[in-house]
Amino acid sequence: MPSERWKISVSGIVQGVGFRPFVFRLALARALTGFVVNTPEGVAIEAEGQVAQLRDFLVALRGEAPPLAQVGEIISRPIPLLHDGEFVLRHSTVSGPVSTLISPDVAVCEACLAEFFDPADRRFRYPFINCTNCGPRYTIVQRIPYDRRHTTMRGFAMCGPCQREYDDPGNRRFHAQPNCCPDCGPRLSLVGAEGRQVAERDEALSQAVRRLAAGEIVAVKGVGGFHLAVDATNGQAIQRLRQRKGREAKPLAVMVPDLSAARRICCLEATDAKEEALASQERPIALATKKAGHGLAEEVAPGYDQFGLMLPYAPLHYLLLQGGVRALVMTSGNRSEEPICIENNEAVQRLAGIADCFLLHDRGIHLPCDDSVVAFQGGMIRKIRRSRGFAPKPIGLAETGGMVLGVGAELKNTVCLLKGDQAFCSQHIGDLKNLEAYRVFQQSISQLETLFEISPGLIVHDLHPQYLSSRWAQKQNVPTLAVQHHHAHLAACLAENRQEGPAIGIILDGAGYGTDQTIWGGEVLLGDAKGYQRFSALEALPLPGGDAAVQAPWRTALSYLHAAYGAELPDLPFMAALECGPILTMVEKKVNSPLTSSCGRLFDAVAAMSGGRQIIQYEGQAAIELMQTAGRLGQEVFPCEVYPEDDMLKISVRSLIRAVAKAVQGGMARSEISRRFHAGLVAVFTRVAEEARQRENINTVALSGGVFQNRLLLEGLVGVLGRAGFQVVVHKELPCNDGCISLGQAIIGRQALKQG
Ligand code: ZN
Ligand code: ZN
Ligand code: FE
Repeated sequence: MPSERWKISVSGIVQGVGFRPFVFRLALARALTGFVVNTPEGVAIEAEGQVAQLRDFLVALRGEAPPLAQVGEIISRPIPLLHDGEFVLRHSTVSGPVSTLISPDVAVCEACLAEFFDPADRRFRYPFINCTNCGPRYTIVQRIPYDRRHTTMRGFAMCGPCQREYDDPGNRRFHAQPNCCPDCGPRLSLVGAEGRQVAERDEALSQAVRRLAAGEIVAVKGVGGFHLAVDATNGQAIQRLRQRKGREAKPLAVMVPDLSAARRICCLEATDAKEEALASQERPIALATKKAGHGLAEEVAPGYDQFGLMLPYAPLHYLLLQGGVRALVMTSGNRSEEPICIENNEAVQRLAGIADCFLLHDRGIHLPCDDSVVAFQGGMIRKIRRSRGFAPKPIGLAETGGMVLGVGAELKNTVCLLKGDQAFCSQHIGDLKNLEAYRVFQQSISQLETLFEISPGLIVHDLHPQYLSSRWAQKQNVPTLAVQHHHAHLAACLAENRQEGPAIGIILDGAGYGTDQTIWGGEVLLGDAKGYQRFSALEALPLPGGDAAVQAPWRTALSYLHAAYGAELPDLPFMAALECGPILTMVEKKVNSPLTSSCGRLFDAVAAMSGGRQIIQYEGQAAIELMQTAGRLGQEVFPCEVYPEDDMLKISVRSLIRAVAKAVQGGMARSEISRRFHAGLVAVFTRVAEEARQRENINTVALSGGVFQNRLLLEGLVGVLGRAGFQVVVHKELPCNDGCISLGQAIIGRQALKQG
């Protein structure tokens, strides 16, 4: 049997995930000699031995890779024999461009949990246990290469036993950068509401657990930031949290110990995609339908038919759930709309007056990362918020091109950097109007630029000149490009599906700045990353008070009725208790009443007219409740006219509003109104898509925009368009809401670079 020596290079997520020890074991098992080393591009291997063994080695490199690794390209070629006597792990080289990938934060693994629950193990109940296959990554790494000295673990010197694990290629903690134990690693402490430490280590934990059981609100430092934790069965305690946090009604996430506990609370089955998502290493919050007799307090998610469930992911969470509390509300540690707190002092200050005490630790969090949220819609798991566990995992693109930064929109902001054929989308950053969020926005851009060595040659921002992201982009010393919001939605949806287009983009949304200075949001765009044509849109109607109308659906309802009927408004029950005069005057005199084609506002108007809530407590609340009352699409539809105007097809909002008004006056049940309204929208957008196909011969439809979080509308359109022979593409990697904007912007920018 002849011997050969092969030089092998491996790209992908192959650093900080136990790849080199894995290579070492493979080589040993096949009697190969040579070495493996981390390089700026990934991992380089030279292996010498029998050809059959080398071939087998190559297959195993991809097929048996450790759980966190994502093997990209493997390139091998024969080189002269060196006859070295053994296989060795070499230390990292640090020069040159770095394109290796940093893994997201990963939930504690089974092997670590087994030790964690073993009274004989030296890490028994140690809240910071981790290994090469699990633990924090993205939130603790400050620089590359990914080495302990470049993480927030730098200050902890490993003890003898930990160092031996770290140095031993056969150990499952070989080069686990956050490796530690009770003797050498981070510690818990408990700090009272007034900011003084009251306990340490085990005592801190047991006090926190006792206080949770007694209904207190405990701020808990986790992986990507602080949570506010409270007993999910204690309505009074939750109400207190809501009041203090300024979060009246928006559903709160709940953490339960395991899948069987989740099954008692929500409709789940073992074969379910939802269960799979819940238990996945990303450990997102998964939305699932409430079960009768769930036993949690109504205050967790009042008026909502689902719970946001999550399983423990930090070892500390397992300990908190062992103290007799069945389920914990675990909501982001912030005041409403602010980003999540990450530093101890910062948390004690910013959460003062909310938390009764603080369960802290001294492992630093470099970058905040909220929990991710997923939902099961249209037959698969989709992301509502892509954050911890997913970021900064790259999204594969169909094409390669220049380095570009997309800075996103204003709400639900994310940023996205393109390099080669990969898109690096940040974690969820939040509402940029908030100063703290704006700081995290800037930090996230520099973090991604540093970790992946990206220096963008173009920065792409929203067309809205006042968005803080747009203004930031203008201040950088890099060329910029402004992109229309809904064009970015379309491009993002195509890009993550590796579709080139052109497509019919049905983009249903809250608000985006249009090229005609009106607010768009109910658009049918034909196009791709190169450009678009506004083929059709909802009629633009006045929004009295602008943003103020978003909080008060009754205002939009009045304005839309006025547009549909003129001065002779029909008398609908919802108007009885309202002061209609001032709003109607505003609309008539066109005072502070920007025109909008927003689909979100249309939902608001119909919700208010049909007796839904007149003032909302959180974004989308009126629309969510309207959808819940329907349960399914209607057999009958409210008719909605379409007519040509300004070189496009206008969808008559006024005809829909008249149909709804008539139904309300005729005493139709709200549930039926909602069914017919949803079915009417599905019908009219299908009709417009048919028209576009006929005229332009385009058969692909892309669905994007925050309104598609509405599962009736999404499933309805996917079904009907599919049966009509369209190829329908929808988001799965990124949310359909504004979390996807940064990718769309970057893709459009890259295309612009190509076209010069
Ligand atoms: Zn582990
Ligand atoms: Zn140690
Ligand atoms: Fe949007």
